[in-house]
Amino acid sequence: EPVLQAINLHRTYGNTEVLKGVDLTVGKGEVKALLGPSGSGKSTILRLLALLEPADDGEILLNGKQLGVSVMSDGTTRPLRESHLARQRRDIGMVFQRFNLFAHLDVAHNVTLALTEVAGMSKADARQQAEAMLERVGMAHRLKHYPSELSGGQQQRVAIARALVMNPSVMLFDEPTSALDPELVGEVLDVMEQLADEGMTMVVVTHETRFARRVANEVSLFDSGRIVESGPPETFFDD
Ligand code: ADP
Ligand code: ADP
Repeated sequence: EPVLQAINLHRTYGNTEVLKGVDLTVGKGEVKALLGPSGSGKSTILRLLALLEPADDGEILLNGKQLGVSVMSDGTTRPLRESHLARQRRDIGMVFQRFNLFAHLDVAHNVTLALTEVAGMSKADARQQAEAMLERVGMAHRLKHYPSELSGGQQQRVAIARALVMNPSVMLFDEPTSALDPELVGEVLDVMEQLADEGMTMVVVTHETRFARRVANEVSLFDSGRIVESGPPETFFDD
């Protein structure tokens, strides 16, 4: 059974159909890379998969369970209440292009916040888990620093730790290195490759073809709101 499955996702903004029926399947421990031109719908599908906005049509299943809706006894579905949505979102880690750390919180608090406020964990336990996760991304030496005191690569590694600490079933990355100075890209890709090696299930929107070739199990190419080609990375890139 796949960890994450999207079936026939549609999304329209105004008169523009941005996703025209997208199917996606990601197995446990698999890394899926999404490529394609700007404006082809890659960010949109990640926002739908992260339950940040609803699809107009189609289904998203995580570990076999349909997300974003409650299924009635007669098989019809209703949109899920916000409190239930929040619960489902916890199982999906999202990393954005622009880090999106809380500027007024230090590194440790950025990572503990969801554990204490959303998951209801004690401060001491949250602290311990946050430090362990920051250790994993090489940021345990910067617990008291604020985001503005960190490089972009460091901020992105903290953002990865913040998502990971919720122990999600899948991690979604939306062009995680596009906002970084070139010399900082490698440290973030290294952390992502390490996660993949540890068996994390991942969907990655990226222009880093070397990363996609080395780490992805499958590449899907978007164009104008559809996946127009999918296959192993070798079929997309030749060395
Ligand atoms: P990509 O990530 O492949 O660059 P996006 O998913 O960001 O593509 O965007 C797909 C299309 O949807 C673009 O034409 C973009 O302008 C449009 N779009 C994205 N978000 C919105 C929105 N909130 N409102 C209106 N149009 C949007
Ligand atoms: P509050 O979180 O309400 O400010 P605390 O004084 O317990 O209250 O902690 C301040 C923050 O500092 C904590 O939320 C925690 O993430 C962080 N913190 C807690 N213990 C330590 C520690 N031993 N070293 C560094 N930072 C810590």
